[in-house]
Amino acid sequence: KQEGHEIRKWEADTAARTTCTNCGTGCQLKAYLKDNELVRVESVDASPNEGALCIKGRFGHTYVNSDDRLTQALVRKEGNLVPVSWKEALREISNKFTEIKEEHGSEAIGGIASAVSTNEENYLFQKFMRVCLGTNNIDQSNRLCQTSSMIALEKAFGCGAMTNSVEELTEADCIFVAGSNTTAAHPVIARYIKEAVRENGAELIVLDPREIELVRWADHWLRPDIGTDTASINGLMNVILDNDWQDDKFIEARTEGFAELKESLSDYDPDRVEEMTGIPADELKKAAESFAKAERGSIVFASGITQHTSGTKNVLSLANLAMMTGNIGREGTGLNPLQGQNNAQGASDMGALPDRLTGYQSIDDPKDVCKFVNNWNKEIPTEPGLTKIEMIRSAAADELKGMFIMGDNTVMSDPNMMQTEMALDNLEFLVVADPFLTETAAKADVVLPAATFLEKEGTFTNTERRIQKVNKIREAPGKTRSDWEIISALAQKMGYKFKYSRPEEIMKEIADLTPIYNGITYDDIEEEGIQWPVQDDKSGTPILHQEEFMRGKGVFHAVEYEQYEEQPDEEYPLRLSTGRTLYQVRTGAMSRRSDVLSAKLDQPYVEVNPEDGEKYDLSDGEEVKVSTKLGQIQTEARITEKVPAGTIFVPIHFTESPANQLTDDTFDEDSGTPGIKQASCRIEKVSAE
Ligand code: SF4
Repeated sequence: KQEGHEIRKWEADTAARTTCTNCGTGCQLKAYLKDNELVRVESVDASPNEGALCIKGRFGHTYVNSDDRLTQALVRKEGNLVPVSWKEALREISNKFTEIKEEHGSEAIGGIASAVSTNEENYLFQKFMRVCLGTNNIDQSNRLCQTSSMIALEKAFGCGAMTNSVEELTEADCIFVAGSNTTAAHPVIARYIKEAVRENGAELIVLDPREIELVRWADHWLRPDIGTDTASINGLMNVILDNDWQDDKFIEARTEGFAELKESLSDYDPDRVEEMTGIPADELKKAAESFAKAERGSIVFASGITQHTSGTKNVLSLANLAMMTGNIGREGTGLNPLQGQNNAQGASDMGALPDRLTGYQSIDDPKDVCKFVNNWNKEIPTEPGLTKIEMIRSAAADELKGMFIMGDNTVMSDPNMMQTEMALDNLEFLVVADPFLTETAAKADVVLPAATFLEKEGTFTNTERRIQKVNKIREAPGKTRSDWEIISALAQKMGYKFKYSRPEEIMKEIADLTPIYNGITYDDIEEEGIQWPVQDDKSGTPILHQEEFMRGKGVFHAVEYEQYEEQPDEEYPLRLSTGRTLYQVRTGAMSRRSDVLSAKLDQPYVEVNPEDGEKYDLSDGEEVKVSTKLGQIQTEARITEKVPAGTIFVPIHFTESPANQLTDDTFDEDSGTPGIKQASCRIEKVSAE
């Protein structure tokens, strides 16, 4: 099907604009179809991408054409998934969920929403779980990446989202990229960073153990040992205070808790930080000076900071750094978490969380709850539910009995894959809605064929809080339905009035109930999208915390560095890092169906430093075994200086060598985000067995 990309646009018979689904940047694209096949994708000259598109946006959507799309509902009978009518599938789900609810209570059911599906679908999903099934056991895959960022930013600033806009990066004088392989995971955002450096002379600081592509553009590369980010960031602040480079005016007028922070930082002098992190003291000092002296300093970070059991603390340290230097509330500054999935921000905004309703309204707040109860005409539970990892653990312990998973390949994405598989196998009843028979769907009792983004209308909210339109361009194959249609039909089958004839009606309900979405309509966002919180005149808010923080004053938090419990030892002497690449997306369920992307990268591998290659007698291209205390994979070694000695790197996209077979589900107590980036491991020749 990929040859279709050679087609010229005037040969297409249909074209329309929509929003890319391959990362949280939310680039605007124009899709061209011929005979209902996606044949070409072009960029659109609008925010946030301004005419740019990366290879994943340009070529990564041809999975919609795949012959192996699910086109019929499937129900497991005598061990096999067999095609059935929608009527039979919905009846089966309704009966089984009702049975579990009656026998074990609502808390025995859990739901995983989707950071890929639209806002309208995530909204309906959490409403269905709360209203029809009576549970707050609702979560989504943002738990695996950025929930630690949400929690930390709420604590420090009163709002858990990116403070500034992507395009403002070009206005920064200094950009500090921490734990974000931006070129690979958010290529169009990396383009703005490079433009700032190349065109405007901005200084670039990179904090990353791997030699990522941005290092070539950096003035300062801080290369810490994995898991020492808090110490590194505290070290930067120690240097700033030692030289009196902090912004006293901003600290005095806009913040609280500075004295405690200052005291806590005295232990992080550069020499001590060098011992803790491996970053040479001189390099730390130079980077600190560069950031502190910038008129506009912007901090960009991603899962390298957040996917740790100290993820919330890491982000709190970055918030301290931004406030200490007065780099918040102005153009070209701010604290900017990059969401991995296209609608990770939106899924959280929509209340697909165990303790929040839409717009982060709390299920603890009787006023907020009352508003929803009145609108939904149904009582809802007010005890916080289980997070994604907790649901899997609960199912493994035989407590959670039923699950509904919408567009999430949990088997491939969650840490401790063996436990995840066991947990899903253990369930009495599992429903999965997905365009493909993923590793997760293959375990289900009922599989529902779901439409892709080109086959439905709705909205996504990108990493910079921009609510953007998704437009239906192609007819879905066979009997496929959109997630919102599936949930509506299921709710009605279970006796609840979920009568929506189109997604716009769902958005009206969202916008009425959600102050940050403040009454928006599709007309308001058709051209440009709007960054929440939406103002009364329907303008957006590109920069948060301008006059004051959303909680009033910004709060400094004294954060101490703690070494991970699991340190490399004789049995597992190396550190394991996992992550994304430029040429594949997430668990590969969609991107590996693109011929262009697969031609670039279709083989799992592990990066090994030459020193370790020599130590363990491994050569480039050799098949090796990587093991942790949880499991092992076999893959090909790539000997490269990109990883430091003592650390190896495994990409997350490959079912043949799943990185999550190696990673642990121990999570950050503050956010529930698992420490995916902190396992100890060993590597050996396959022939050594
Ligand atoms: Fe799509 Fe992200 Fe690439 Fe933009 S940067 S085209 S949103 S994958």
